[in-house]
Amino acid sequence: MTTVDLPLLPLGRGVDLNSERGVECPGDLPPASDPDLVARATAAKAALGDKVFILGHHYQRDEVIQFADVTGDSFKLARDAAARPDAEYIVFCGVHFMAESADILTTDDQAVVLPDLAAGCSMADMAVLGQVEAAWKALEDAGVADQVVPVTYMNSSADIKAFCGRHGGVVCTSSNAQTVMEWAFERGSKVLFLPDQHLGRNTAVLKLGIPLDKNVVWNPRKPNGGLTAEEIQDATVILWQGHCSVHGRFSPDTVDALRAEIPGINILVHPECQHEVVLKADLVGSTEFIIQTIEAAPAGSAWAIGTELNLVKRLAAAHPDKRVMFLDKTVCYCSTMNRIDLPHLVWTLESLAAGHLVNQITVDAQTAADAQTALQRMLDLPGKTERD
Ligand code: SF4
Repeated sequence: MTTVDLPLLPLGRGVDLNSERGVECPGDLPPASDPDLVARATAAKAALGDKVFILGHHYQRDEVIQFADVTGDSFKLARDAAARPDAEYIVFCGVHFMAESADILTTDDQAVVLPDLAAGCSMADMAVLGQVEAAWKALEDAGVADQVVPVTYMNSSADIKAFCGRHGGVVCTSSNAQTVMEWAFERGSKVLFLPDQHLGRNTAVLKLGIPLDKNVVWNPRKPNGGLTAEEIQDATVILWQGHCSVHGRFSPDTVDALRAEIPGINILVHPECQHEVVLKADLVGSTEFIIQTIEAAPAGSAWAIGTELNLVKRLAAAHPDKRVMFLDKTVCYCSTMNRIDLPHLVWTLESLAAGHLVNQITVDAQTAADAQTALQRMLDLPGKTERD
């Protein structure tokens, strides 16, 4: 019986340096009411010139996105950063695990900067290395570890990616999860899927045809994950009990209500949504898939989208000829993504322009090498690797 009782680090709090960081911004932030914030960010960015490359995740606020040199999902942005080795500073407007991935994929001469160190990811925080090592020990005790291939979603800490690299495992994104899982099943009879149970379940059941009851959930806060040795031995997929606090909110009831209210509406959701929501949706796919679907949709069509609200609002504004709405009754931004705001960006850019390197995100060499192993196994697979 093994368990590690590590608390989930709530937003911006906690000091487990092996997980998503949650510390205070060390600098003097300009007040949000400063009317010159846009001018200050523009001036600082211009002063830095080609020395800085600003990445903006799709879920970022408009006030931040306007300064991004490139926008995209986490993996695309990390690769975009790697394609700019001349940029001394990579300012990542996203969350901590994304900045880690960018640090792994960029050169030692480049510094990756996160404007607010408290911008973690609640999903990534749900799988801490000590917990995963305890789970692996339980799999060994159950006599199945040598049959298990660990697969981690891009949305995980560098520690977890490195764990997968050390144990014959691999990284996946939301668009290649099926290909990656098939690769894993060519190498073992079981998959340990981290940290998003919903992406794991949706892929296993809907893409690979694995029966729902062959998916079990490992609860890191329960002894032996809350599972018996027999349940572990009988399972095909062991899903880590993690989820996205944003995508996990969408409910099947809302889908039913919208269909009743707006006949012909299309329900388009991200695979981080609950299985019951995905089952009721018309289309499911990554953020890039969602963007492309709306771009290609005919004028006059109606869409309810189950993903982060900043992106949905931008899509609605960009496509006034279509009816684009949010698949939830209440406002639901990613609160950690939203920690990156204009004051933090101004502070970051002005600090860098003044020669002060702030909020650098670094991954130690061994962890980076092991994580790179897991990433490379994904990159070597045929098909799409972008999008999440
Ligand atoms: S949207 Fe979900 S998975 Fe993405 S950063 Fe926010 S909490 Fe993490």
